[in-house]
Amino acid sequence: MTNNNIYFVANWKMYGNLSSINQINKLIKLSKSKIYKNTKIVYCPPYTLIDRLITKTNKSPISIGAQDCHFETTNFAFTGKISAQQIKKLGAKYVIIGHSENRSLGETDKIINKKLKSALKEKLIPIFCVGEKLKDKKINKTSSIIKKQIRNGLKGIKNFNNIIVAYEPVWAIGTGLIPKNYQIEKVVKLIKDNVNKKTNKILYGGSVNNKNILELKKIKSLNGFLIGGASHTVNKFVDIIKKTIN
Ligand code: PEP
Repeated sequence: MTNNNIYFVANWKMYGNLSSINQINKLIKLSKSKIYKNTKIVYCPPYTLIDRLITKTNKSPISIGAQDCHFETTNFAFTGKISAQQIKKLGAKYVIIGHSENRSLGETDKIINKKLKSALKEKLIPIFCVGEKLKDKKINKTSSIIKKQIRNGLKGIKNFNNIIVAYEPVWAIGTGLIPKNYQIEKVVKLIKDNVNKKTNKILYGGSVNNKNILELKKIKSLNGFLIGGASHTVNKFVDIIKKTIN
């Protein structure tokens, strides 16, 4: 792992309700301990819990993010949608954009590009997800898919220093399958070459758990992990953080 801040982003997806909030107690305690001072823990709960989690974590180094936002920044007639401005005004700092579960529902690179612009306008830190499908990987198209997602997603964006990129191979999400370290390293280099060599932070996501973390943490070029399933159970999430840092 990098020597800089190490990110652990918890994507709760459509899980969690009011009774899940107290799970965070363990993380709050951990985040205040000196050994974890370079650890950035970001919780991305469903919209319904953002406000409660912000209140719960406000005296700790833990940050809160949303799992998506609409591309229209301000008030608009979009039933059921949430804008980057609404998220920002709640006090959240991050927003996941371009997750493959949303891409699979028809979210295009063009929409993702607008969402990224909207998030940046509101000074939210986007966690921009890219990743190839299994069928692309099988015909050696990983690099061209990632390059295309980056090129289209970042079109017209001049300053991408504050964008975190998450490499999430679609075939690795929730499947228990993960790429080999050298394959992740290759994509991290590709992302750095196509975004910004110096400043961008790059995370890996896809079936990270408290066992495979010991291997994944050897990847020096990574700045952390985006964790879905294993972040829903507090003990597993804590274990991942401890095993990475210790
Ligand atoms: C995700 O949904 O971003 C993710 C990485 O999920 P999982 O860890 O469950 O594969």
